[in-house]
Amino acid sequence: MSSPTNGNAFKKNGRIVIIGASLAGLRGAEALRNEGFSGHLTIIGDEPHEPYDRPPLSKQVQKGWVKADHTKLPRMRKVDAEWRLGVAATGLDRASGVVRLANGDEVAGDALLIATGVRARPWPNPEEAKLEGVYTLRTCEDAARLQAALAARPRRVLVIGAGFIGSEVASVCRELGLEVTVAERAAAPLAGALGNVIGAIAAEMQRDAGVDLAPVSASRSLKETQRGMCVTHAFPTGPCSMWTWCWHRWARSATSNGWRAPGWLPASGVWPVMPVAAPSISMVS
Ligand SMILES: Cc1cc2nc3c(=O)[nH]c(=O)nc-3n(C[C@H](O)[C@H](O)[C@H](O)COP(=O)(O)OP(=O)(O)OC[C@H]3O[C@@H](n4cnc5c(N)ncnc54)[C@H](O)[C@@H]3O)c2cc1C
Repeated sequence: MSSPTNGNAFKKNGRIVIIGASLAGLRGAEALRNEGFSGHLTIIGDEPHEPYDRPPLSKQVQKGWVKADHTKLPRMRKVDAEWRLGVAATGLDRASGVVRLANGDEVAGDALLIATGVRARPWPNPEEAKLEGVYTLRTCEDAARLQAALAARPRRVLVIGAGFIGSEVASVCRELGLEVTVAERAAAPLAGALGNVIGAIAAEMQRDAGVDLAPVSASRSLKETQRGMCVTHAFPTGPCSMWTWCWHRWARSATSNGWRAPGWLPASGVWPVMPVAAPSISMVS
């Protein structure tokens, strides 16, 4: 096994495995090739797609300008790599330098780059999360579903949480001429990321644009009624015909550096060595 400490030998013949085939994984692979790494590179991604850009998912895609599956990330250079897409990494055996995959395969490597980003936080009640009209926004599939729902012109959209993504979706709704209520437990939209002063300016801008900003202590449960869905606690306005739950752990982690190890990593005896905001990368070798 070639060790990363063997300098040139590793650069020439080493095996690097990248877990996470999105922005950080792709750019990491490009950087390795740029820096002269000519060994074997494997990129593992649990999504079936080539790396794509998420920022348009809450903006251009929702406005209907770009299709959700048309946001592929531009390549900075050609990357010679073995792509294992549509299969998750589920474990690591550090002693033998093996990454275990969900389909039972194993991938051997001398060094590992973990670029698994963040996940949408599930709504606390799984049954409520399955209700029709409740959406999460993280992947291109999520974006396509939400776009179709907005295009169907619901009477009102409720966005729970006014971080970046929630605020963007609210803004798109107004541009589409849809009524939108934003429920936020912080003092103002974006306050978590940008502070109360900027948050107050954002609140004013959102109200001017016709967003109904609803301060809540917490949005706890969802239920379906004859007039649409409604949140049962701590929300002052009436039932909505549709609910949009846009989760934005990205925005949260950007402010709190709240990066979390993928669930399977601690079980493999590995902890992130470098908690960062976004993009999230840990290097283990
Ligand atoms: C709707 C939306 C809008 C955004 N808008 C902006 C914006 O305007 N400006 C901005 O700067 N940022 C924005 N962001 C954040 C930006 O997209 C992220 O910072 C960026 O995607 C982080 O890249 P990443 O590669 O670290 O992680 P991610 O993009 O989260 O990619 C991680 C990848 O790893 C995969 N993965 C996870 N676990 C495993 C596993 N065990 N095995 C294999 N694969 C795994 C995931 O499925 C995913 O494909 C937005 C994000 C979203 C969701």
